[in-house]
This record gives sequence, structure tokens and C-alpha cells, in this order.
Amino acid sequence: MQLGIKSEQNQTTKILATIENYLQEVVAPQAAQIDRSPETLKQVLLGMGDRSLLALRVAQSFGGAGFTEIDYRHFQILIARYSGALAFLQTQHQSAGSMLAASNNQELKQHYLPHMSTGKVLVGVGFSQLRRPGNPLMKAQEVEGGYRLEGKVPWITGWGFFDNFIIGATLPDGREIYGILPLQQQETEGLITFSSPMELIAMNSTNTVSANIEKWLLPNNQVVAIKPAGSIHKSSKKNVLHHGFYALGCAQAGLDILEISYQKKRLSFLQESHRSLQQELDNCRQAMFAAITDCTYQKQLQLRASAINLAGRCSQAAVISASGAANDRDHPAGRVYREALLFSVSGQTTAVMEETLKGLSKIS
Ligand SMILES: Cc1cc2nc3c(=O)[nH]c(=O)nc-3n(C[C@H](O)[C@H](O)[C@H](O)COP(=O)(O)OP(=O)(O)OC[C@H]3O[C@@H](n4cnc5c(N)ncnc54)[C@H](O)[C@@H]3O)c2cc1C
Repeated sequence: MQLGIKSEQNQTTKILATIENYLQEVVAPQAAQIDRSPETLKQVLLGMGDRSLLALRVAQSFGGAGFTEIDYRHFQILIARYSGALAFLQTQHQSAGSMLAASNNQELKQHYLPHMSTGKVLVGVGFSQLRRPGNPLMKAQEVEGGYRLEGKVPWITGWGFFDNFIIGATLPDGREIYGILPLQQQETEGLITFSSPMELIAMNSTNTVSANIEKWLLPNNQVVAIKPAGSIHKSSKKNVLHHGFYALGCAQAGLDILEISYQKKRLSFLQESHRSLQQELDNCRQAMFAAITDCTYQKQLQLRASAINLAGRCSQAAVISASGAANDRDHPAGRVYREALLFSVSGQTTAVMEETLKGLSKIS
């Protein structure tokens, strides 16, 4: 038994080393191009697929890497350090993989999961609308053979990359339904249309669109899960730390640039700022890993806000140290600064918004 655990750990260590090597050798040198060009982003996404890295949290019996929670959080930090766009795009697919892995729909699992690690099948998600209060943006009604969907999905990343996405909709009794839809315009039984990719200042190459859905029939065999009312809020609370690990990776990217600025300019205060921010970041990282297993929600919420705050300050430090050049379209400082913007709002809840703002007003 113990030997089994040890060999799994060795396997994970090897995979993390493969990822780090790929990010440093292939991704980092073209990070500016990946940020701008969907074609380049697609190449590096498929490069992860070639290395079977696209279903890290899916069990090995389904072709995934079987990462533990801790392994996966290390991975998040690593990938966000080298490319925000790749981190953000692939996370949608990894998240779809985890949802399918947890599904009771065996047919769907067999169809999708074995091909997700290699990227032969690529799937996005579109369920953040379930977090919005008031009249549901995306509704579902049970009908013969499945569920009729009607409404809007405000955010789906990965148009032109992913063939399908997992939609989240609200049933009349408040329960949440998740199911597979095509990520391309279709008019069969109902109509699904997409906006053009939005013009975004951060991670524009990830092709984020919104969708309009009219009387679309989601057949029973495409249902991933039906969950009790309010599940999204419960899971946002339970998983409040998760998006914070991308913020930590982004903060580290900012400090990498600060260090390069010091190597170039040899100004001692750059080194001092680097030392002090790195210490703060290391402390926050340590506290976040400790908080995964043993912590109150309130403390986890504070740590998420601290990670966001550090991404903002470290990326701003990168900009300041790079001076006017940071404004160059290809300069990493400008890119990381913009990535901090996205990592500070992705998966945002009202509580995260409030806690982040509290941290900001204390500082100023
Ligand atoms: C570039 C980009 C790509 C994205 N891609 C995806 C994707 O692929 N899939 C996906 O599922 N999501 C995606 N998202 C959504 C992302 O996770 C959301 O940004 C995040 O959940 C915040 O949602 P929102 O910006 O729509 O804000 P909102 O949901 O409008 O607001 C954030 C929080 O404030 C609360 N709130 C909003 N309005 C009110 C109000 N009137 N009163 C009280 N509370 C309120 C909400 O409950 C919510 O908790 C993407 C976002 C961005 C910016």
C-alpha cells in the first residue's frame, strides 16, 4: 500500500517536472505571442495534449493524471507564472474534465473522459451566470426526453478551441442543471448563437464569447448533473481558495520581471523590493497550502483576497521597474499587469469582491 502511494507521488513529481520543462522551454519564450494570437495559443494548448496534461484531476482509470488537490494547486501556480492566457484557457477544459469525472452519466464519461487528457476532445464551461442574483439568466424546463433551455450565457472562453461546453441552467424549482452543448452555432431543435469573440484587454487570444439560447433541447443523455438549489454558492464557498492559486502564479511572474529589472539596472532598491515582496508571497503561498486542509471559510476568504492583492502589487512592481518600456505591446510587465486584472475577478463572488476591496482600502 505504502509502495503504491510512493510510486503515485513519483509519477506526479515526474509530471510536474514535465510541465515545468514545457512551460519554460516552449511557452515562456512566446508568451507575448500566445497572449495575442489564438493560433499560437492553440499550438501550446495542443502541446499540453501531446504530453497528456489536459486532464490532470481526472482519475488514471479514465486516462487522466489523477492529481491530488495539492498537486493541482502547485500546477496552477506554475502555469500562471509562465502564461496567463494558457492558464486561463486550459483551466476551463480541466474544470469540464472534473465535472465529467464527478458525473453519474456513465455514457458521457466513457465518451469524453478517455480523450480529454490528450486534447483529442476539448470542452469548455459556461456556468458563472448561476452566481448572479435575481431572475436566472439561463433557464431550463423539463420536457419529454430532456430539458428545454432558454436564456443567455455571459461568458464562455475557448470559442474556436473547444468543440463543446458544459452549460449551467436553473430549473423552475431552483435546482441547477449542467449539460453538454455545442460551442458553435447550431439550429436543430432550438437555436444557439454566439457573439463574436470579445475584445478584451487581458488574455484576448482565449476567444471569450457570450451565447444566446432559444428553446434548445438538452437531451437526457447529455445531462452531466442535476444539483440542489444554491449548489453553486456552496461550491464557490467551499472552493474559495482555488482561483487564488492562479493569482499567486501571476504575482510570481511579476517578481520574475522585477528580478530581471534588477539584473539589468543594478539599483539596490529593486533588489530590496523584490526581497520584501517575495517574502510576502512565500508566506501567502505557505498559508494557502496549509489552509487547503484545515481552515475556516473566513480565513480562506482573507487568503484569496491577499493572493489577489499580491498579484496586483507584484505586477505593478514589475511595471514600475521596467519604466516606460512596460507599455510596449510585447513587454512582459504590461502583459502580467493585465493578467492580474483577470485573475483578480475570475470566479468572483460578492464576498470575494468585498474582502478584496477591504484589503485595498487598508493599504491606501
Ligand atoms: C474574460 C473572461 C472569461 C470568462 N470565461 C468564463 C468561462 O469560460 N466560463 C465561465 O463559467 N465563466 C467565465 N467567466 C466568468 C468569471 O468567472 C466571472 O468573471 C466571475 O464569476 C464574475 O462574474 P461577472 O463578471 O459576470 O460578475 P457578476 O456575476 O455580475 O458579479 C460578481 C458577483 O457579484 C454578485 N452580484 C452581481 N450583481 C449583483 C447585484 N445586483 N446584487 C448583489 N450581488 C450582485 C454576483 O452574485 C457575483 O457573486 C469569464 C470572465 C471573464 C472576465
